[in-house]
Amino acid sequence: MRYGIFSDIHSNLEALDAVSEAYRKEEIDKYLCVGDVVGYAANPKECIEKIRTLAMITVAGNHDWASANLFSTDYFNPLAKEAISWTQRNLDEQDIYFLEHLTLIYKNEDLTMVHGTLDGPGDFNYMNDGYIASKTFELLETDICFVGHTHVPGVFIKSKNSHIEYREGSNIDIKEDSKYIINVGSVGQPRDGNPEATYCIYDTDKKNVQIKRISYDIQAARKKIIAGGLPGFLGDRLLIGR
Ligand code: ZN
Repeated sequence: MRYGIFSDIHSNLEALDAVSEAYRKEEIDKYLCVGDVVGYAANPKECIEKIRTLAMITVAGNHDWASANLFSTDYFNPLAKEAISWTQRNLDEQDIYFLEHLTLIYKNEDLTMVHGTLDGPGDFNYMNDGYIASKTFELLETDICFVGHTHVPGVFIKSKNSHIEYREGSNIDIKEDSKYIINVGSVGQPRDGNPEATYCIYDTDKKNVQIKRISYDIQAARKKIIAGGLPGFLGDRLLIGR
């Protein structure tokens, strides 16, 4: 089985189109989305439509739930909050229905998937240190958990002796005596200093996960953000991947 796993599209249609085009050369059997289809950029509706047909399962991100009024924006920064109101004004009932019915956790025989962390998935905490990773490892029933939310690709590895290490890198071999939390980065708003869209492939036969990058028309996405009346910073940050 070859899974195409991607996250944090954030209404960036140009990035999503580039990623789905790149996936076409990869012989993917199933697509999975780790959440935050909307929020920040100018094409929430178009991205929902595309994800609905592409991804077998999408788990809920904080921006998805906030857009459906299921999660408070009290702790969102002012620009993110403004983008949520803008997104709500540009979605119809069907789009909201899609967002409010997203599940928080998905699990099958190969993998688990959650936007933030497995402990309190509806709180949307960031998987950004070994202690937080250890809480998810305690609850993890499969060998691999795919997460998003930080927009920074990377992997926490828990070895047989329970030691947890963090690694960056794009090629991860899955070993039988270890468990993995893999952050697949962001399609539509990377924050690791590389502005290219990020996408991931998990091959269960080869026991290998690859995190790949693809360039896209950032200027087109940026111009739409500005023309649509969204905060200009949300367009500018795409240029530098921050
Ligand atoms: Zn996000």
